[in-house]
Amino acid sequence: MQHRYDVLVIGAGGAGLMAALYAAKGNVSVACISKLYPTRSHTGAAQGGIGAALGNVAEDHWEWHMFDTVKGGDYLTDQDAAEVFSKDIIDAVYELEHMGLPFSRTPEGKIAQRKFGGHTREFGKAAVERSCYAKDRTGHMILQTLYQQNVKEGTKFFNEFHVTDLLIEDGRCRGVVAYELATGEIHTFHAKAVILAAGGYGRIFKITSNALTLTGDLMSIYYRKGLPLEDMEFYQFHPTGLAKLGILVTEGIRGEGGILRNDSGERFMERYAPTIKDLAPRDIVSRSIISEIREGRGVGRDKDAVNIDLTHLPREVIEGKLAEITDLARTYLGMDPVKDLVPVQPTAHYAMGGIPTDLNGLCLSDGNGGSIEGLYAAGEQACVSLHGANRLGTNSLGDLVVFGRRAGIYAAQYARQVEFPDLPDDPQRDTKDMFDGLRSGSGKENPALIRKEMQESMMNNVGIFRNGPDMEKQVEILKELKSRYQDVNVGDPSLRYNSELIEVMELGFMLDCAEAMTASALNRTESRGAHDRADYHTRDDVNWLKHTMAYKDLDRPGNVLIGYKDVALKGFTRAFEPKARVY
Ligand SMILES: Cc1cc2nc3c(=O)[nH]c(=O)nc-3n(C[C@H](O)[C@H](O)[C@H](O)COP(=O)(O)OP(=O)(O)OC[C@H]3O[C@@H](n4cnc5c(N)ncnc54)[C@H](O)[C@@H]3O)c2cc1C
Repeated sequence: MQHRYDVLVIGAGGAGLMAALYAAKGNVSVACISKLYPTRSHTGAAQGGIGAALGNVAEDHWEWHMFDTVKGGDYLTDQDAAEVFSKDIIDAVYELEHMGLPFSRTPEGKIAQRKFGGHTREFGKAAVERSCYAKDRTGHMILQTLYQQNVKEGTKFFNEFHVTDLLIEDGRCRGVVAYELATGEIHTFHAKAVILAAGGYGRIFKITSNALTLTGDLMSIYYRKGLPLEDMEFYQFHPTGLAKLGILVTEGIRGEGGILRNDSGERFMERYAPTIKDLAPRDIVSRSIISEIREGRGVGRDKDAVNIDLTHLPREVIEGKLAEITDLARTYLGMDPVKDLVPVQPTAHYAMGGIPTDLNGLCLSDGNGGSIEGLYAAGEQACVSLHGANRLGTNSLGDLVVFGRRAGIYAAQYARQVEFPDLPDDPQRDTKDMFDGLRSGSGKENPALIRKEMQESMMNNVGIFRNGPDMEKQVEILKELKSRYQDVNVGDPSLRYNSELIEVMELGFMLDCAEAMTASALNRTESRGAHDRADYHTRDDVNWLKHTMAYKDLDRPGNVLIGYKDVALKGFTRAFEPKARVY
């Protein structure tokens, strides 16, 4: 079946819904394709909040937010993106409020704000209240609000449609191909402009806060076309996932006063970050926890976790402002944060890298300003280089609304100016070939086993602490897993509701993301932000103040070609950092 829309949005999380809403306001026809029902997107799991320098609780300015974002990103952040972001997010939060988002309030009725890791006043002097929140259900509220607004604007939704291919020819995007779960039918969507907003890929790791569906589909589809993925080596581990499960324990829990303790009850963050302690940026807290565990001060049967202590906080705060996570701890661990210490461990959480874009969301085809006409991206799967080497908490939800909005506006503007491009001959060919391949493999290999081996080895070899020999080993492991993947066979021959086919396809996408990440991480011989190498322990601004662009080598399978892109600088340098260090 064939469809035609001026603008197509892939993904219905915060970025996709914001993009669709703004495209729809731009007088063009808009459809949003999502493999999930929209309000089930991972954005709905975001608890902590959305950071904006509103100054409702304490004095604040966008320049301070911009500095924190650049510093948090360990100076790999593109500073033009950080400037646009810190200014635009203020107005975007008020806009969400006016759309009806039920933010928590101060006693005077303003949007309430709380502290979050890495957010400071006066360029690093002390922590500042910047995170706007709706209890610990901020993402859920964003999704509901934006979905309602899209329904009002007439966005057409194709839910439980799985995008399998992007139609790009002669440097121009022409539409997408998607598989409809309920019927098994393959659809061609013809479009003037396409916005990719398909989320992250945390499922390549064993312990992750990410939903089962976060498998990097569109990143892989982009990469398979020989187009670059940017800064894939920068992957954030959130310091606190529920032990063994990875389910996220929001940083808001430390913003509200929660304390990390080791086996002897020591508040160990005092040793690693004496000023800001438990509210240090995520990379520092994650590494501190792992160091405690490695040095034998962990808790639990395997001594592979530390405790988060809330027991000194009033019950109303725990059950009120932190209701969601209290419920999760009670349900999944049988523990009550009001009286019990809760065991936590770092969990794979957020991709700083992804499909490179400019400030308007236009997808880049190289590191020298080349782009793909009519193709835009926003959200976690995109890389506008806002987060650099490490994202600050609350800056992702902000990224979705600020850059989702820009992508929607510019895609609609473009679509109003151009005619529909021609579709390629036989647009569904590659999708059909992929499905046929997956359903006719020899069946020697079990995809579940390949997935497990990928997740465990990525966790061990390209996780929080990295080194050359482990990553070299991982390159070989991934080559082997990819070659075994050729021999998987989807047992279920039907096309309707074939969830097995989807899972195997997603595994293929994840193997690509893991390949690009490992090659990029091995290539970067320094430590910066979330990328921490034991064999290159220091940051090297002389050689490495640049973005990585990883390309699949289409001639030699398993080989990755590396290019670079300049970092956009705008005034903030390490020399600017105040003498009184916060961390
Ligand atoms: C547990 C958790 C808590 C978090 N808390 C916070 C927080 O408090 N503050 C903050 O700033 N950030 C937080 N983050 C990060 C932030 O929530 C995410 O980065 C962000 O929500 C991603 O939004 P997105 O719109 O890019 O993608 P998602 O919300 O993940 O949506 C992806 C969409 O893409 C669709 N899709 C994917 N593949 C396909 C395909 N092949 N075909 C069709 N559709 C497809 C899915 O159906 C879905 O609609 C948190 C993340 C997690 C996991």
